[in-house]
Amino acid sequence: MRLILLGPPGAGKGTQAQRLVRGHGIVQLSTGEMLRAAAAAGTPVGLRAKAIMDRGELVPDDIMVEVISDRLDRPDCANGFVLDGFPRTIAQAEALTGLLQRKGIALDAVIELVVDEDALLARINRRIAETGGARADDNAEVLKKRLAVYRAQTAPVADYYRQRGMLRTVDGMQEIPAVSGEIDSILAKGTEPARQSAGG
Ligand code: AMP
Repeated sequence: MRLILLGPPGAGKGTQAQRLVRGHGIVQLSTGEMLRAAAAAGTPVGLRAKAIMDRGELVPDDIMVEVISDRLDRPDCANGFVLDGFPRTIAQAEALTGLLQRKGIALDAVIELVVDEDALLARINRRIAETGGARADDNAEVLKKRLAVYRAQTAPVADYYRQRGMLRTVDGMQEIPAVSGEIDSILAKGTEPARQSAGG
């Protein structure tokens, strides 16, 4: 199972990705988590990324493409993966298409979680309250910036996959189990032809 989860910050990508990891024995490739780990470890890339993340902006494409390319080569990706937080720009999407082609990897699905912005603000404010603001980029002002960046730079990524007939959308405003159910049925449909031709 190889898929991409798209959606604005707070849409529930991380929650759904973790559930898919448990259900399918795949790995979650969260570029945000990778950058936070690099920042905590104090690597040069991590420290540069931290300042950018704290402002709610995007880390440069060339860095992100290298990070994800290296990560895809690790053996734990062999069973499959869910990309959470990548690609976030058209340039990243194009680079990913090339990378996957070169690595001989085919995607099963690209799923967009569609949510409305007021609900997102409420969700993130809840997350800030629950975690005591553990993430430096979890505050209302940075969230507004992140949503603006999403609209300008990441929303077009959904169109990129829509134009290629790969995009499936799910109403991310539903309760978590309902969102999970819709994702599961998309994935079941997506893999049906493969199963039929393989098993008969
Ligand atoms: P996330 O945990 O996915 O919300 O990501 C947190 C922050 O990491 C983002 O606001 C960006 O600053 C940075 N980031 C994560 N993934 C990417 C990416 N694919 N491209 C650029 N910046 C990213």
